[in-house]
Amino acid sequence: MFVFRRFFLLLVLCVGTLLESRVWTTTSGSRSEGELFEVVGDRIGLRIRGRDYHFSISRFTPADQAYVKQWMKVPRCAACSGTLGTRSTKAGKASYHTSCFRCMVCRKNFGPGNRFRKDGWGGMVHVEHFSHTGLCGTCSRIFPKQNASKEQFFADGRMSCKPCLKDGIFKLDLLNKVDDRVWKSLMEVGFVKPKGKIILELVDQKTLLREAAKINASGNLRGLTLTKYRVVKGGKNPGTTFDHRIYVLYGLPYVECISVLAHEHVHVWLNERFIDASPPVIEGFCNLASLTVLQKEKSKLSSILLENMNNSTSSVYGGGYRKMRQRLAQVGWPALLAELKRKSTPP
Ligand SMILES: [Zn+2]
Ligand SMILES: [Zn+2]
Ligand SMILES: [Zn+2]
Ligand SMILES: [Zn+2]
Repeated sequence: MFVFRRFFLLLVLCVGTLLESRVWTTTSGSRSEGELFEVVGDRIGLRIRGRDYHFSISRFTPADQAYVKQWMKVPRCAACSGTLGTRSTKAGKASYHTSCFRCMVCRKNFGPGNRFRKDGWGGMVHVEHFSHTGLCGTCSRIFPKQNASKEQFFADGRMSCKPCLKDGIFKLDLLNKVDDRVWKSLMEVGFVKPKGKIILELVDQKTLLREAAKINASGNLRGLTLTKYRVVKGGKNPGTTFDHRIYVLYGLPYVECISVLAHEHVHVWLNERFIDASPPVIEGFCNLASLTVLQKEKSKLSSILLENMNNSTSSVYGGGYRKMRQRLAQVGWPALLAELKRKSTPP
């Protein structure tokens, strides 16, 4: 009996595979230690100090690229990326360690005919246990409510997974720092700072929707820009003055925050020029700014947010974005900015 138990323990240890940590070297010589956990097209997922990053494979040395090739040849668990041994289960195109192929709520293995939901992070849950989980409003990670902390449930009804919460922007001074970074990227592609003053505000969802209703905006909003202008004719200081207010939902993780801020700053740019166009053109153009800042980020979350924009079924935010992205690829930033400026109709 004793021998049998020892044997059983050993087996469990073998199944719970750890990913191999190694030093990665970029072609420019910078080194960092991390574990490879996925390969998606020409990008690799590296876990560095507990955070998930996505990098283009071409940025690494030939030796690292060879390691990736080798890594991909070995059959791996679709949940934990560990190498598969004999105790594995096939489900559709994916294979899992039998111990990984289970519901995060009841901890039972999925059996034949079980219906389950899967997120993009390896998490799985029985459909009938889904109500016992939270769903991160940013990255769509599913997490069991039983292990969640109360901070993950925001007072306004939103939910956040632990990794997104860790990077959450809850304070205005942090938001301003994020804003500086966003501006750096925007200026690189040709945007200039506005004439008018911008007030940044972190708000809850109710406030955001109430303010949005004032300008007939709706949908799954994370940020909002309100611009007031005054036209002074004659007198000592003729011209137009602007006041802008940018609302951003509190608690968004840093990466989503830069995406939202970039988008909203482009609204400011458009508003100051009285550029009028259809919603798909306006929102699609603003999303190009999100694209620009997200492309610079290397976290896995930034690739997920980019994918969400690519796959968005909204005719305005998705369809408009894809059209504008095509246009950007054709003509480049300077010509695109000029094109938009030609749509200007000042009062
Ligand atoms: Zn596994
Ligand atoms: Zn279950
Ligand atoms: Zn999340
Ligand atoms: Zn917008």
